[in-house]
Amino acid sequence: MLALRLIQEGRTELVEMAAPPAPPPGQIQVRMKTVALNHIDVWGLRGMAFAKRKLPLTVAVEGAAEVVALGDGVTSHKIGDRVAIYAGVTCGHCKRCLKGQENLCENIAGIMGFHIDGLAAQLINLDPRQAIPIPDGVNDVDAACATTTFGTVEHMLFENAKLEAGETVLIQAGGSGIGTTAIRMAKQAGAYVFTTVGSDEKIQKVLDLGADVAINYNKDRFESIVRRATDKKGVDIVFEHVGPDTWAKSLFCLKRGGRLVTCGSTTGVSAETNLFQLFQMQLRIFGSFGANFANIRSGLQKMAGGLRPVIDSEIELGDIGTALRRMQSRDLFGKIVAHVPK
Ligand SMILES: [Zn+2]
Repeated sequence: MLALRLIQEGRTELVEMAAPPAPPPGQIQVRMKTVALNHIDVWGLRGMAFAKRKLPLTVAVEGAAEVVALGDGVTSHKIGDRVAIYAGVTCGHCKRCLKGQENLCENIAGIMGFHIDGLAAQLINLDPRQAIPIPDGVNDVDAACATTTFGTVEHMLFENAKLEAGETVLIQAGGSGIGTTAIRMAKQAGAYVFTTVGSDEKIQKVLDLGADVAINYNKDRFESIVRRATDKKGVDIVFEHVGPDTWAKSLFCLKRGGRLVTCGSTTGVSAETNLFQLFQMQLRIFGSFGANFANIRSGLQKMAGGLRPVIDSEIELGDIGTALRRMQSRDLFGKIVAHVPK
């Protein structure tokens, strides 16, 4: 079978490798149809891996597939089921898993596509718990964005920041995969949305997605605009994933008791925090990584209801290397989804 492998940091290759054997008892085999790209894939490429891993490694952490074989004892799925794949290999029986907090699993065996082989392969054996049914009406390209993109945004906005109707939100990097999704989800939840983008060209695009105010952070000071527009009070929630370039200003945009939720740091890993501001303003900071199964099911239901991911482009599996470099340069709007050859 074909798989896209990270051969060394910075170099991926489409290679022929042995297909997995028939699924062992308790596992299923899926045929991958699509995979979506994420910044976690770029971190790998940039050699910013914060965990030990062995190369070569199959890339990609989210995608959509079809069940093609069942191991003995599997009754949860049937052949032909369309499923979105959850990359975290969780145990299913620790305290966190039993509480539905799978992304805090105490015995996690790794994240596929990051610590262990990922989803950019034609055939994969996995735990059926990782295969979440795709509702009717959701296509394979959109479904590829369910587990990491939609799941992460669900987890950030609703599980962590507890966004409510009528609240104000600042979404950083609104043109990115999670930024575009966050704009749509926050608007659907009844929020007033400020967002930042890196070019004038993206301003109209984020306004078309429903954002109320769009700011080109390369030209204008977003923190001044946000504070002026909120009578100097600030917003209820900041949705962060940029890091040092925006961190201090993001905190400055929060109102008293405001919440900042972050799931990434695409501009570096260390930033300064004004501690006086943190406690005096009673700010709350949430670190968010991945999603639990309930977040993914909820995201898939939203897709079925018409809230779709923004797709920048559809590519072939072998072009992922080029696409990841495009992601690094931020020359995109929404998600890049690759088709896995049959
Ligand atoms: Zn667990």
